[in-house]
Amino acid sequence: MPKRQKIRRGIILVTFLLLPAIFYYFSPYLIIMGASEGVISGSFIMFGILFLSAFFLGRGFCAWVCPVAGIQEASFLARDRKVNNKYNWIRYLIWVPWITIIIYMAGTTGGFKKVDFFYQTVFGFSMPNVYALFIYLIVVITTIILSFSVGKRALCHYGCWMSPFMIGGRKLRNIFKWPSLRLRVERDKCIDCKTCTKNCPMSLDVNGMVKNNKIENPECILCGTCIDLCKKEVIRYSFSKGL
Ligand code: SF4
Ligand code: SF4
Repeated sequence: MPKRQKIRRGIILVTFLLLPAIFYYFSPYLIIMGASEGVISGSFIMFGILFLSAFFLGRGFCAWVCPVAGIQEASFLARDRKVNNKYNWIRYLIWVPWITIIIYMAGTTGGFKKVDFFYQTVFGFSMPNVYALFIYLIVVITTIILSFSVGKRALCHYGCWMSPFMIGGRKLRNIFKWPSLRLRVERDKCIDCKTCTKNCPMSLDVNGMVKNNKIENPECILCGTCIDLCKKEVIRYSFSKGL
């Protein structure tokens, strides 16, 4: 495994191990609870940061930081099945009603009146009681079941409530052509070995994207696996404006 990928996997394994202490900051439920009390909670702030981060880093968070990514990529060792990217719209069946509930809750309490980053935590840590432990276990077990039954990073494709913020931020960035971390290709160097496609953790047809010179894809998490495994150095990172 290339060194950069070892480092990346090491980072997401550590953030996964920290998940019991930090999962309230990514909680889709606490943001609703906070909204019902007029409080901007830690997860509200975190989702806002993810949206803004996508202007410059695309979905880099998903590959390099996300605490649920570590357990999903660890599952590759046992089950390395590709996911069908055709059904990624399923995530919006969860996301749209969820956002609607948050707006409704905030509306019924007269809007947000207070910011509390540590809302519902104990000295900043999640897991204040046995119910939180139960929720944590449900999240972990569901993620593992999805990885094994549906495929690689299935939660990212079909169930992640955070990815639409980054996909939205990335879309804005593309519209305004802001400089950002991206992939760049030199397609003439490609020998069609398909190593990139075979190893993409998001099950993308990277080889096809290279051949069509369309490497920009909302599902790309900028993990760099395709860069590190391509022997012909066809793909590289670039901090630049869109084409
Ligand atoms: S790994 Fe490199 S050479 Fe092989 S198909 Fe992908 S881009 Fe082309
Ligand atoms: S296209 Fe490359 S950088 Fe993007 S998710 Fe796939 S392997 Fe990672």
